[in-house]
Amino acid sequence: MAKQKINTLIFDMDGVLWKENTPLVDLATLFMRLDEQKIKYGFATNNSTSTPEDYRKKLANFGIRVSKNQIVTSGLNLAEHLKSIYPKGGALFIVGESGLVEIFAEHGFYHQQSSVLAVVGGMKRSLDFQYLTQATLLLNKGVDFYFTNMDASFPTPAGNIPGAGALLAFLETASQRKAVVTGKPDPSLFNLTMEHLKSDKSSTLVIGDRLETDILGGKNAGCPTALVLTGISNREDIGRLNIIPRLVADDIVDLLDNLAVKEWYLDE
Ligand SMILES: [Mg+2]
Repeated sequence: MAKQKINTLIFDMDGVLWKENTPLVDLATLFMRLDEQKIKYGFATNNSTSTPEDYRKKLANFGIRVSKNQIVTSGLNLAEHLKSIYPKGGALFIVGESGLVEIFAEHGFYHQQSSVLAVVGGMKRSLDFQYLTQATLLLNKGVDFYFTNMDASFPTPAGNIPGAGALLAFLETASQRKAVVTGKPDPSLFNLTMEHLKSDKSSTLVIGDRLETDILGGKNAGCPTALVLTGISNREDIGRLNIIPRLVADDIVDLLDNLAVKEWYLDE
């Protein structure tokens, strides 16, 4: 393989930049250095509970000033996907939090109890049986079925709680249907981020902490990948899951220091 030069970085956020509200490294200094070195960057997350605007504010709180356009969530990715299928928008049965409802609204979609184009879902931390029953009854009638992502768990300070994937499994079991899932490891989330950044897969490094979503998704998009060991996956997982990142680093400072020394060329 020829020597590859990196000019763009796509970061997963939780477990890479921060854990909940605690930064993992000095973020303001790190991103200032990227600006000085003219490295472009964006952010891609499977979390659908917040909007790109929410993340823009969170990044700004840590001293990273970016435009909303540099941030792609699994909710935005699914909304764009649905817009390509239903260009006029319309009614959906939405199993998700306000962040998801908001991003769908920006794309012309709204929640309705019945007569819907599709059942769509993501992470939702308050639910009752009746709501899931209505979703199941609609699925049994054959309406389309989409989910933002299939992460089984959602990390919190108390430990891992059920994620979007757990909810997806509930609905798939109840309806005996399979949802179309557009989050990582599907490449579409990274493809959309690269579109926003006007970058090319061969020069865009995908950086994440979870092998089966970030790293596999980056590989599916044709990008070089880097695993940082500040989040979910550890070195043993690489062999166990047989998902091999191009680079492995203790944290993003370690990773980006090394790349800067090599003038942003990847080793062959
Ligand atoms: Mg993560």
